[in-house]
Amino acid sequence: MDLEATLLGPLVEGRTCGDCTACCAALKIETPDFQKPAGEACHHLSVHGCAIHAARPDVCRAWFCGWRRIEALPDAARPDLSGLMVSLDFNREPRNCLEGVSIVVRSLTGREAFESGMAEHILDELCDRLVPVWLNDGVQKLLIHPESDVADYVISDRTPPAELSEEVQAWCSRYGMFRR
Ligand code: SF4
Ligand code: SF4
Repeated sequence: MDLEATLLGPLVEGRTCGDCTACCAALKIETPDFQKPAGEACHHLSVHGCAIHAARPDVCRAWFCGWRRIEALPDAARPDLSGLMVSLDFNREPRNCLEGVSIVVRSLTGREAFESGMAEHILDELCDRLVPVWLNDGVQKLLIHPESDVADYVISDRTPPAELSEEVQAWCSRYGMFRR
């Protein structure tokens, strides 16, 4: 099973992308056979969707956002409807051990998308697992889960106070090995 399926879950049965093409614009793609920059519509994207759908690159066939994988996210959380896209991100130059593999909630429409009730709903669903969650508004990335008091101890490898010990230990057991 791939890491996305392990950490986010398998594809939700019966859920399809519909009219959404958000990932074809928002994401950076950097594979040997296909590249596109983040934040720019792919040059294959037409008003009817992917113009090369039948022959689209493997990366496009295999990749799905969190909304396609997390059943608890409602229909209205679809990225083109909510302005929020959930994905598992892999950062080759992480600033700390909680940034290498993490869930990122991207605002597709600026900071105001984070102020909606939908953002709160999405975060409620995401922040109950042992996977870091970051918010990205296109300008800044902010770690939301674990909370900063726990994250500081996990990142620095300092000894936490007793009341945080169990939670810090749980995060360290999975992410401590990625400390730089
Ligand atoms: S962002 Fe998600 S729902 Fe939208 S096209 Fe991509 S995979 Fe489908
Ligand atoms: S090739 Fe098609 S599926 Fe892939 S990013 Fe471009 S428009 Fe989207």
